[in-house]
Amino acid sequence: MTITGAWRRTADGAGLLGADGTVAASIFAEMSALAMRTGAINLGQGFPDEDGPPEVLEAARQAISDGVNQYPPGRGLPVLREAISRHQQRFYGLSADPETEVLVTAGATEALAATILALIEPGDEVVTLEPFYDAYGGLIALGGGVHRTVRLRSPEFQPDLDELRAAITDKTRLIIVNNPHNPTGTVLPIETLALIVELAHRHDALIVTDEVYEHLTFGVAHVPIATLPGASERTITISSGGKTFNTTGWKIGWLSAPAPLVTAILAVKQFLTYVNGAPFQPAIARGLDLPDSFFTGIAADLEAKRDVLEVGLTTAGFTVSRPQGSYFIVADAAPLGYPDGAEFCRILPALAGVVAVPIAAFCSPANRADYASLVRFAYCKKVDVLERAAGRLAGISSR
Ligand SMILES: *Cc1c(COP(=O)(O)O)cnc(C)c1O
Repeated sequence: MTITGAWRRTADGAGLLGADGTVAASIFAEMSALAMRTGAINLGQGFPDEDGPPEVLEAARQAISDGVNQYPPGRGLPVLREAISRHQQRFYGLSADPETEVLVTAGATEALAATILALIEPGDEVVTLEPFYDAYGGLIALGGGVHRTVRLRSPEFQPDLDELRAAITDKTRLIIVNNPHNPTGTVLPIETLALIVELAHRHDALIVTDEVYEHLTFGVAHVPIATLPGASERTITISSGGKTFNTTGWKIGWLSAPAPLVTAILAVKQFLTYVNGAPFQPAIARGLDLPDSFFTGIAADLEAKRDVLEVGLTTAGFTVSRPQGSYFIVADAAPLGYPDGAEFCRILPALAGVVAVPIAAFCSPANRADYASLVRFAYCKKVDVLERAAGRLAGISSR
């Protein structure tokens, strides 16, 4: 029997499976397994090691007790859609009709999947920044799209505006903007966002924003691209409760967009998960309505954690790029004598009892060499864990 299918599609021809036909273990799975096996501190995968707000956890328990355990409506429970709408208004002055312009999804991942699969035709170009969140590459390939990237270069990790102008053409259907950015921690300035809107208009492209770190910026305000003049009519804004409320395992995400786009995306979403997480939906609604002090508190908390890891990495001899948001910091291992970040990550558990992931894992094969010595560490961990990791990393250079 010959098995054919979309799993064969990726821009580089490698397919979504490994060359040997087995499912290619993502670098995150490989590094997490390495952490488990060696007992190393896992700063590879970006999940918090502490629970989120007790009100939110309690609201989920309550919803289960109250019998919110069957399929919710396809667009999501009204209580959550209304909370999402209030949240967009409260933080950004954006209005989204909870009936027609908001869709609840199985995490930001399903929002991205349904959006990409609904809105591209085979051969359409999709532009992302590079390095990019790994799901983008896979989803664009599943949709038969052509993936074009605009590169973020160390140490600033800001896109060159001429490269941006060159990448977005009449062939571009979607521009995916991940801001704040994973893996680099970059926050795009408003001038860059404005240029993206201008280019989207000029080439009649749609903008998809991945804003899962919207509440986790340090000293800079998060600006949703949909707030810029002329943007909201062609923007799909995607976010999720996972990173904000330390509930990455709940997979409650959402998007807001003009009603016709939501309808098109819903047409695909109904055949992906249909719906998910009924009792978690009112719980995330509770979270979105928490007072401003909660949101400023989580950002300040995470900033302090960033500082602990940044100082640790600098002391250990890495060159680091200071992130303005997200869970992650990029460190260059070359000054320590390790030009190959992937190799460095494989020996890091033995070297220092810490796990990180190579930035090359977020790059297209053709561009990996340019990011070879860079590695990503997650700082969404308890302060004492970060201090322990920093202490261990400091020992590398003395070996
Ligand atoms: C974590 C993450 C996601 C996935 O969010 P889920 O809600 O868990 O699906 C999407 N995009 C980026 C940039 C992320 O870091």
